[in-house]
Amino acid sequence: MTDARPLPSPYSDELVTALKRRSRASLAHQHIYACLYEWRHNPPTDKEISDYVAAITGVRNSQLQRRRRDLKEVFFIENLKGHRYHLVGWLPEELAEATGISNRVRFHVLQSGACKNCGRTVREDGVKLAVDHILPQAWGGSDAEENLQPLCVDCNAGKKDYYGEFDQYGQQIQQAATYDEPHRRIAMLLKAFDGGLVPSELLGAVASMKQYQEDWQKRTRELRELGIDYQTKKRKLPSGRIVTDYALTRWVPLPDEPLAPLIRRLEREKKSDGLS
Ligand SMILES: [Zn+2]
Repeated sequence: MTDARPLPSPYSDELVTALKRRSRASLAHQHIYACLYEWRHNPPTDKEISDYVAAITGVRNSQLQRRRRDLKEVFFIENLKGHRYHLVGWLPEELAEATGISNRVRFHVLQSGACKNCGRTVREDGVKLAVDHILPQAWGGSDAEENLQPLCVDCNAGKKDYYGEFDQYGQQIQQAATYDEPHRRIAMLLKAFDGGLVPSELLGAVASMKQYQEDWQKRTRELRELGIDYQTKKRKLPSGRIVTDYALTRWVPLPDEPLAPLIRRLEREKKSDGLS
């Protein structure tokens, strides 16, 4: 359970009141809830929900999927393998009330039910998940889904502590994320951290700020052509995944010309030097 608060019984006043507050509370919504509730230890598919509702009403519910999604405004319904819908618990109030992020996006982000950092899950470990901004809002991070990830409350607090050390560079970090070229965004972010370790996820997010970077690690390595250098440090996440953090060790001012063609040229020159 995500929350100590027990789920309301099907067709109860508590359920109707909660549904009315955030979405709709038609009888059809309540039938779907009743199915999810009764089957919460053996989560049903849409087909099974449809069969369940039809057995009560005698008709097929044509709006079933939309109504099931309506319930997600109030309850945390996990999307399991095989399109099974698991009614986990109440949606934590802080998530329901979070500003800026639409419910659709929030649910999408939380859908895995697992913390992106430590891998612990709502179901097996009973953690509470929060929607985390990869690039914090205070540093210019947006509410776009690409900038959001599920973190458990512990990991979220740990991240806040670590990032807090760099708050004095907040303005430079924010600035770094605004450049048009990925190489420049990466370089300026490394510089903004002033030799401090830049977490892998943050570097990846800032690299992809304007356009998704399939291989931001390669973009980072290419900065060495310009005379910039850094060291890396591997870090094992509690989930077992290994990530690499980056710290700037040598800075050279970036030329004003476009960096990608310049890097290509420098690479070519180096190669032909090697051949001659
Ligand atoms: Zn975690």
